[in-house]
Amino acid sequence: MTIDQSIPLSKDRLFNWLKTLSNQLSKGTLIIDINDENLSILHANPYFFKLTSFENEQIINQNISILNGKRTSKKSIEALNLHLKSGSPKKLTILHYNKEGSAFWNSITLHPIRNNENIIQYILLTCEDTTEETLNKMIYKLEHEVYQAIDHESNLQSILNLISEKIELFYIRDVYCTIHLYNENYDIKSIGSYTLPVHVINKLAFFEIKSNSNFNKSAIYLKDFTDTPLYNDISENYELGTIQGSWTKLILTPQNEISGILTLFNQDSTELKQIDINYLNRLTLLIQLAIKYAEQKIQLRHLAFYDVETNLPNLHYFKTQFSKWLNTGDSGFAAIIHPAEFNKIVDLYGRSAGADLLSQMANRLSEYLAVDDVLISRFSNSIVLGVKGESDSFTSYYQQIELLTLIPYLIDDKETYITIKIGYTNFDQSLTVDQIIHQSDIALSKARNRSGNSFEAYEENSTKQLIEEMEIFNQLAYALHHEEFLVYLQPKINFTTLEVEGFEALSRWNSSRLGFISPIKYIPIAEQTGKIKDIDLLNFKHILSWLQNRLNKGKKILPVSLNISPDHFYDPLFLENIRNIFNQFNIPPQYIKLEVTESIELVDLSRAKEILNQLNALGIGCSIDDFGVGFSSLSYLPQLPFSEIKIDRSFVSSMNEPGMYAIVQTIILLAKNIKMRAIAEGIETKEQLVMLQQLGCPAGQGYYFYKPMSINDAEQLLDIEKTADEK
Ligand code: C2E
Ligand code: MG
Ligand code: MG
Repeated sequence: MTIDQSIPLSKDRLFNWLKTLSNQLSKGTLIIDINDENLSILHANPYFFKLTSFENEQIINQNISILNGKRTSKKSIEALNLHLKSGSPKKLTILHYNKEGSAFWNSITLHPIRNNENIIQYILLTCEDTTEETLNKMIYKLEHEVYQAIDHESNLQSILNLISEKIELFYIRDVYCTIHLYNENYDIKSIGSYTLPVHVINKLAFFEIKSNSNFNKSAIYLKDFTDTPLYNDISENYELGTIQGSWTKLILTPQNEISGILTLFNQDSTELKQIDINYLNRLTLLIQLAIKYAEQKIQLRHLAFYDVETNLPNLHYFKTQFSKWLNTGDSGFAAIIHPAEFNKIVDLYGRSAGADLLSQMANRLSEYLAVDDVLISRFSNSIVLGVKGESDSFTSYYQQIELLTLIPYLIDDKETYITIKIGYTNFDQSLTVDQIIHQSDIALSKARNRSGNSFEAYEENSTKQLIEEMEIFNQLAYALHHEEFLVYLQPKINFTTLEVEGFEALSRWNSSRLGFISPIKYIPIAEQTGKIKDIDLLNFKHILSWLQNRLNKGKKILPVSLNISPDHFYDPLFLENIRNIFNQFNIPPQYIKLEVTESIELVDLSRAKEILNQLNALGIGCSIDDFGVGFSSLSYLPQLPFSEIKIDRSFVSSMNEPGMYAIVQTIILLAKNIKMRAIAEGIETKEQLVMLQQLGCPAGQGYYFYKPMSINDAEQLLDIEKTADEK
């Protein structure tokens, strides 16, 4: 305010002039004598009385501190006094109380009034109630802080605590704040608060929400505690002062459903005013937005780090967490665990069944591996596992990991056994996460080529091997097209007569580009790439036309067993293909047998049973190959209509060990009991033959008798036998 030069000089006249001026002002105004030590109020205008509801007598000769109250901050009182004493112009906002004790934000401006000698005589102090404006500013600030907290990945709980804190610190009233959030069943999901501890909040939890329907959703629910036992209990026992009553307002979702409540517990008994109603409305809206935004953020985080199908952590999560391990210099191993039956399960029951299998596996794995530093994530058709600890510790965990295959999984309501292939690598900080995953992948490719449950570690030369496999893969199509595949036959010997009773057909490949390649190498690659079906059907045709040829010439034929890849066995077109080819020839069905490896029926018993029954109906018998190598199938074997069990070579070759001897004995006994024939594989010595004969094994094959031979050699063998017969 500028003071006109015409202001009279004398102090009294100056005062009178100020009085007239202040009475005309439309703001609360006080005149204070700067020379008075107490800074007494000499005059207050009508607006001031309206603002504070004080009367003239109560104000005159009092100090401005008459407006102070419980929550007026010491700092602002000191600032105001300092400026009043020094007479410097100043604007400040301070929490003041009216005569009834209601707080309001008082926006004060100090104008020093000087006489003609330029000496300050009075302070003209104007007051304005800016409560609404100040609360609005606070809410904006709070909104900003809340969104910042959400951006910094704070969880919902800490955001609710933050809101409660700010309300308690900055609201014009002495309140304790609590925020309850509910889930869909109206059970409490979380409680936010600042001063009140949860056990006290629980005592005060009078506002029960049971259903969504019976509430006036825009109302504010008031509760008076003064006459209740709680009032004394709280004030006596918890050092929280008194809690007079509470105001509760519902927090609604955008769909107008109740998602929580905001409660302000009042320490004073002032009544609810329009300004409080507005404030509560704004706050509940802010909380509603904060919840929505925080939940969206959590969802986004979830989407970024979790697999939608299984809800398992995804590869991105794995990499992020793993990088932290590497940064802190940790070591351990990473393993990719692949259920070998994954693709078959997806083909049979759909993608969600594959995902279901992985999530069941992950659950079991976290149960079996009772260690702290474990990461388990989904990685496409596998589980990727990270374990922090001593390097080279994979093998010490393998027993626990292998438990994954012990009990069947319930997939599409069917009991399904699986086999696992694992590639792993040891890590330390010299590797990146991508390198670690790449190395585990390379090791996995190796493990997938082995039968049964198997694991492989990454080795430097694994890459070389992978390149070799790629070359084989590239040549497979060419080989099929140019008929590079041959069938060899290995005679099966009857142990009673020691005569050849049949053959096993075994695939051979002499590649024009790569030379001779063992089926142990190319069969798994052909299986993985789907080419095996063509190879098996080609062999089937070869064998049938050979047998037909001999029959046409009136020569003797013997049953031939063909190996059928499990992949093929499950192909919906398998039976039709077999039937179509079979019908092109005129061979009695008892001359054809199919061998399938043990892991097939692990996938789905009822389906395996159905296929076997249909083959049996055609007159084609089936053998279970490599018995005993994969999962121990003793329990389900009797349910499946196989006609033959082939005892794996690994058992026969170590039959001189008592344990192995006992296993072979059990398998032969089992076969007898369920009326299947046992055929021993890989007999290399007379000793083995004698032992098998003693155990009552009816037949077998092996280098001791014959190695697999070309069709020409087999022809000769049969013809010689025939000649011998004829003699
Ligand atoms: P398998 O069906 O168990 O065949 C027996 C394997 O043991 C053959 O290996 C055979 O040559 C070998 N063997 C036989 N007697 C002895 C012995 O006394 N000592 C030793 N050390 N080995 C013996 P091969 O021909 O290398 O075949 C390996 C596997 O590849 C087969 O195991 C079979 O699972 C698969 N396979 C071979 N041909 C085909 C085919 O046409 N289709 C399919 N799907 N798989 C095939
Ligand atoms: Mg076989
Ligand atoms: Mg075998």
